[in-house]
Amino acid sequence: MRFVAKQAQEGINVSDTHPLVEAGTLLVGLTAIFVVIAIALIFMIEIAMQFISVEDEAELFDGWLPEDLVAVSPADERLLETQLLVDRLARHWPDSPYQFRVEIDDSELANAMALPGGLIIVTQGLLDQVESENELAFVLGHELGHFKNRDHIRALGRGIVLSLFFTVITGDDVAGIGIKVADITLRGFSRRQETKADEFGLAVLNSEYGHVNEAWRLFERWDIDDDRFLDLVTYLSTHPDSGDRIKDMLDHADAEGWLAEGNVSPLRW
Ligand SMILES: [Zn+2]
Repeated sequence: MRFVAKQAQEGINVSDTHPLVEAGTLLVGLTAIFVVIAIALIFMIEIAMQFISVEDEAELFDGWLPEDLVAVSPADERLLETQLLVDRLARHWPDSPYQFRVEIDDSELANAMALPGGLIIVTQGLLDQVESENELAFVLGHELGHFKNRDHIRALGRGIVLSLFFTVITGDDVAGIGIKVADITLRGFSRRQETKADEFGLAVLNSEYGHVNEAWRLFERWDIDDDRFLDLVTYLSTHPDSGDRIKDMLDHADAEGWLAEGNVSPLRW
């Protein structure tokens, strides 16, 4: 008996599912795998980051600047004045291992961030909106609090993973951790981390001025329905809701016996 191979039926290797649906399923599946890998990596790096000593951090990031920083001219007097203010405030944290550096980013969006190695970035937008030295001192003191609690180093772990993935997705060969990446990762600070940073900022303010007046003034102004500000404020996306925040700050100052009234210093520019 001769074996006669049967002609395979037309379309035997073609699934009944529409190719677009299959492509969609594949895409969803790949995305899910991608997300799971990213989360696992973030988790592992965050743990690993906590073992980096402050000394190593300082050495590793000595002189480092984010690649997408658009720094204002070194001649801008606000740069020197803000640096001097940070230096004054940092004296109230005597055993700080950091040599804090200030840079002003050209952005119109009000924001401030603590970055590895003791780098504090404030934006032009923020400096445009503060109306007293005390207001600015609180924002800076809050960022010092993030260094104190080493929140920034955990955020850095996320930043590394994110920029890695951005590099893969965009094909950009710049794997740097820029302000944009930092901005996203710093949004991940928990409410508790923010509250602790606020408390540190208040303590610094109280040591410097003998009261905590105006610590919340900036947030009060942002809290009113003024579109002029809301468009400009990205700070609020990285920091807690103003209403609760002001109340928590007032409560904390009250509990510590810190005066909420006192003479306010003008800005030095
Ligand atoms: Zn914060």
